Amino acid sequence: MAKQDVLQRWSVKDSADLYGVKDWGAGYFDLNAKGEVVVCAGNGAARVEVSIMDVIKGIRDRGMSLPVLLRIENLLDSQISLLNDSFARAMQQSGYKGRYQGVFPIKVNQQAQVIEEIARFGARFDHGLEAGSKAELIIALAMIPSPKSLIVCNGYKDEEFIDLGLYAVQMGYKCFFVVETPAELPIIMKRSAELGVDPYIGVRLKLSSRAGGHWQDSGGDGSIFGLTTNQLIEIVDTLRETDKLHCLQLLHYHLGSQIPNIRDIRQAVRETVRFYADMVKEGAPMGYLDLGGGLGVDYDGSQTNFVHSRNYSLDEYCSDVMEVIVEVLNEQDVVHPTVITESGRATVAYASVLLFDVLDTNRFEAGPIPDTLPEDSPEMLENLWLVRKSLNLKNMQECYNDAIYYREEIREQFRLGTITLRQRALSDNIFIDIIQQIAGSLDRIKRVPRALEGLQNVLHDIYYANMSVFQSLPDAWAIDQIFPIMPIHRLSEEPERRAIFADITCDSDGKIDKFPDMHDVRTSIPVHALGPDEEYFMGVFLVGAYQETLGDLHNLLGDTNVVSIRINEKGGHDFVREIEGDSIWDVLTYVEYEPKALISRFRDKAEDAVQSETITVAQRRQIMKAFEESIRGYTYFER
Ligand SMILES: *Cc1c(COP(=O)(O)O)cnc(C)c1O
Repeated sequence: MAKQDVLQRWSVKDSADLYGVKDWGAGYFDLNAKGEVVVCAGNGAARVEVSIMDVIKGIRDRGMSLPVLLRIENLLDSQISLLNDSFARAMQQSGYKGRYQGVFPIKVNQQAQVIEEIARFGARFDHGLEAGSKAELIIALAMIPSPKSLIVCNGYKDEEFIDLGLYAVQMGYKCFFVVETPAELPIIMKRSAELGVDPYIGVRLKLSSRAGGHWQDSGGDGSIFGLTTNQLIEIVDTLRETDKLHCLQLLHYHLGSQIPNIRDIRQAVRETVRFYADMVKEGAPMGYLDLGGGLGVDYDGSQTNFVHSRNYSLDEYCSDVMEVIVEVLNEQDVVHPTVITESGRATVAYASVLLFDVLDTNRFEAGPIPDTLPEDSPEMLENLWLVRKSLNLKNMQECYNDAIYYREEIREQFRLGTITLRQRALSDNIFIDIIQQIAGSLDRIKRVPRALEGLQNVLHDIYYANMSVFQSLPDAWAIDQIFPIMPIHRLSEEPERRAIFADITCDSDGKIDKFPDMHDVRTSIPVHALGPDEEYFMGVFLVGAYQETLGDLHNLLGDTNVVSIRINEKGGHDFVREIEGDSIWDVLTYVEYEPKALISRFRDKAEDAVQSETITVAQRRQIMKAFEESIRGYTYFER
């Protein structure tokens, strides 16, 4: 091989750089020498990796189709360990005398298997659960591993909610009611008097500190949650007057999720610790300082204070938080409390990957263009033809403007009926060819005109993704959340196309057209060219937080199949759980159809067609078989 060839050949490392897998993968994802994405578990000499292609093969060999949500238990375990270890280290370094006890906020991923794993693995750290509703409290009460782990109840609480929590206290569990509005306190005190159980009371602060990012309205003065300083004082006074101040043991705030800037975090902690210290001085026993959620995930790998990133590591988060706490408490001479965080996103985001196949592609490229223009071509088409002929490196901007002008004119004349469909089609081809020639030449000119910057990004193919954005990536649709997306295989080949993804709903919002980038958001990503019938597998990463239950049944595309694996020390993997996604039967019942009645109605129609001799009896049988098989099948495209 010539030296030149060696230098230019695309390598797996090029793909790793292109998709930024080392930047957002947090050490959990990488590429192997075969050009496949692998999941990594264990550290140092114990590090093992599993190819996601092998997992896909295992899934299909078991008769399951894509799309599949892949959960990797090891990553959940690892994140819980990292969080607890990191706080332990930060506390040791800052000379802290209290301890750390995290709670997982159930709303971030309520799926039974996820909560079971968090409870099971978290038990060694006394990691607890946070509940925001009655349903979540019921999960917490049943799943909490032992009375050593905490239960924190946020959200609006009625008598029934409070009774459940008080029973838990009666049974020896530390179940805190966080008072979010003054109206809750009388209900809590009334029920606790009636049941004869002293409650553990927390108060939620409305901080004046605010944080940037998507969810900035959850904290700050304008927040819909939390108590004002006056309400806080009233609660302290009420508890003191009724001789119940000893119940007040926890101070809580939640600044919002995905806080990108460590400065905002430090500021909120400082303000909160000041409140804490003064509440101790008011005579409340306290003992628990709950800093809520907000620990970010670096979705784009840029390590910046951009909304999809965070400008701090987990270690920096813990040490900064502890530094501020120690400083303020020591200054005020207050005993060090147990520090709680309610980190949800950072705990579960990494552990789930959405895998889907690409069904088809629509290439952005010009159709056939003849050598000469047909005789009867209208003037505007001739003009466009001349633009294409005259195009060179020096007049690109001008040709670009002209091409757009003539294309508009031609479209207008088509609307008026003076240009035929075939003439319009030819003009579209010529136009696309001009734009592609320009885009392809941009890296050969020194100064790219402003109007042509980013032209390559706009010229993309459409890849049809066997999934529903609404069901599997609701935040990508609702709040423009970006997730890292990349092919799972073929990464030793250079991806020579650029694409966006359209899902299989018929909604024009059912697309993925925003991708992570180190500097901004990309509007298309490089992908490999696909031949007819060629299979192509993509992964959407870091989807473990918030996506599953927020998803909806748009177009009646249901829950995907879920497969959970555990990577073992030998580098193999076990399928620990398979959950079949919704069948068409299931989704029909969600919208109150009776599938049996639908079959019977359709059978009547088929019988009518037999009676009127539109179809034969044999055809009826075939049609009914297809109908009944479909109604029991998967809601997604099946090969
Ligand atoms: C949503 C929520 C959390 C979780 O926040 P993350 O940013 O996902 O860690 C924690 N606490 C409360 C009160 C919440 O509402």
